Amino acid sequence: MIKVAINGYGTIGRRVADAVRAQKDMSVAGIVKRKPDYVATEASRNYRIFASDKESLKSFANSNLEAEGTMEELMDDVDIIVDATPEGQGEKNINIYRAKKKKAIFQGGEPATLAEASFNAYGNFVDSWGKDYVRVVSCNTTAMARTVSVCIEKFGVRKVEATIIRRATDPNDSKKGPINAIEPSLGFPSHHGPDLKTVLAIGEANTVAVKVPTTLMHVHVVNLTLEKPIAQEDTLDLFRDYGRIISVSGKDGLTSTAQLMDLGKEMGRKRGDMFEIPVWKESIYAYNDNLRYIQAVHQESDVVPENIDAIRSMLQEKDRETSIGETDRALEIRGKS
Ligand code: NAD
Repeated sequence: MIKVAINGYGTIGRRVADAVRAQKDMSVAGIVKRKPDYVATEASRNYRIFASDKESLKSFANSNLEAEGTMEELMDDVDIIVDATPEGQGEKNINIYRAKKKKAIFQGGEPATLAEASFNAYGNFVDSWGKDYVRVVSCNTTAMARTVSVCIEKFGVRKVEATIIRRATDPNDSKKGPINAIEPSLGFPSHHGPDLKTVLAIGEANTVAVKVPTTLMHVHVVNLTLEKPIAQEDTLDLFRDYGRIISVSGKDGLTSTAQLMDLGKEMGRKRGDMFEIPVWKESIYAYNDNLRYIQAVHQESDVVPENIDAIRSMLQEKDRETSIGETDRALEIRGKS
């Protein structure tokens, strides 16, 4: 069994913890929390709790919730750490992981230069093979990498252009906005295009991003220039063989991110998660060497399966197909796997 520590138990950390727990070949040795709040109390039903440092340990000691020790103590007993602390914190934590000689996975909020490789399961699983420090790219980059890598495989892609309509913040956050405005990314391209190039070999990737007042998913309007001309018929069942991408249709009532998030709940997913990238069938349009489609991204959960596969790649446990298959079966991810 691979023993995993989860450092940072927020939006991403709590989901990765549950996903690790669902796998047959790994277990959660403990989670690291900074404060003894309601999230820590609920987590203590399933996980051993550790405090982030001595100061934080004191706040647990003064509460009704006991922490078993500090992050550094937990690390002595694990094979790998998934760092899901807020962006910027990973850069500080890597020194602790290095001193303890432990492998660690960082999230998309950290700079690419922090890790030896950036990771996407479909795009570049082998690049993280045996590596000590890896970054799972952001929710937006993960979603782009999944569908674009399929198009690279099938047709070859010369150029990626995309408009990213971003959710303002996550549903459990009452501090960030905008709540009544539309906020464009200033400067071109937005950071997403260059980030995509850290996991896919593509010549050009240009993106712009616009933040809108919603917490329910991002939407990407994608426009690819392919290596060769294709016809509309070539796009039938484009993503059928890829479990982490699902085709959805307005004909089934799935006309917006509201229904997609409702679908996650109806599928019985914990927290209503949608690990798959939904692509609207009606939006797929091919003309000469141009392919367009619109996809949605559940920002809170699409990176979760990638964290699991990154663990197996870094520990040289399973090849790409085997790992993706096992992850998908354990998380009941739809489609072929
Ligand atoms: P979050 O704020 O929801 O969770 C972070 C957690 O870490 C919080 O519980 C916080 O209290 C805790 N924390 C803060 N400092 C800590 C420390 N020193 N030690 C241990 N815990 C500490 O953040 P998140 O949304 O889960 O983001 C985490 C990372 O994942 C970031 O790099 C982010 O960019 C990336 N990411 C976020 C999303 C998303 O949409 N939320 C999607 C993909 C990737």
